[in-house]
Amino acid sequence: MKASPEAQLRLLELADIDAELGRIAHRRRGLPEHAEITGLEARDTELRDSAAAMTAQSSDLSREQAKAEADVEQVRTRIERDRQRLDGGMISSPKELENLQSEIQSLQRRQGDLEEIVLDVMERRETNQSSLESATSERARIEADLRSVTAARDAALAALDEQAAKATERRSVIAEASPGDLLELYDKLRAQHGGVGAAALRLRRCQGCNLTLNTVDLNAIRAAPEDEVLRCEECRRILVRTTESGL
Ligand SMILES: [Zn+2]
Repeated sequence: MKASPEAQLRLLELADIDAELGRIAHRRRGLPEHAEITGLEARDTELRDSAAAMTAQSSDLSREQAKAEADVEQVRTRIERDRQRLDGGMISSPKELENLQSEIQSLQRRQGDLEEIVLDVMERRETNQSSLESATSERARIEADLRSVTAARDAALAALDEQAAKATERRSVIAEASPGDLLELYDKLRAQHGGVGAAALRLRRCQGCNLTLNTVDLNAIRAAPEDEVLRCEECRRILVRTTESGL
C-alpha cells in the first residue's frame, strides 16, 4: 500500500487520540462511584426487605398483645366475680367455700402467668420497633448518600464525555483528511492489536511492540520508498517512519 509520509504521520496522531479515547473509556468504567452506588443499593434492598418483615411482625405482635391482654382481663373478671360471691356471704357450705378459695388462688397464678406473657410481648414489640426505626433511619442516610454519590458520578461522567467529545472531534478531522484504504487498514489493525493500529519507528525500535528491528529489516526499510506503507515484522502494525527513526 502507498500513502504520503504526511498521511502516515497523521496515523500516529490518530493512534494518540485513540489511546486517549481508550483511557477515557477505561476511566468511565472504573469510576469508584459505580461500586459505591452498587453497594449502597444492595444495602438498601436488604434494609427494605428486613423493614417489611419487621412491619409484618409488628402487626402480629400487636395482635398477640391484644389477645394476651384480653386473656388477663378475662381471668381478672372471674377473680372479681368469685370474690364477690365469697364476700357476699351467700355460701354456707365449707366445702364450697374451700373450692372457691382454691379457684381464686389458681386464677391468680394464671393471671400472673398471663401478665408475664403480656410483658414479654411488649418487650418484643419494643425491640422490633427500635430495629425498625434504625432500619428506617439508615435507609434515609443511604438515600442521601446515593443522591450525593450519583451526583458525583454524573459530574465525573459529564467531564469524561466532554473530553471524549473533543477527542472524537479531533479524530474525525484527521480521519477525513486520511486516504480511505489507509484508514481502513489502520482501523482493522487497531481492532486486532488492542486498540493500537499504527506505531512510530523510533531509534530503530517499533513503539507498538517495543522490539528493536534487526539489520535485515532496517535495510529493507531504508530501501523502501517513503510513500510505501510499512508493517512491523514482529507485531504487524503499520510502522511509521519519523525524524527520530534512527535509520
Ligand atoms: Zn511492532
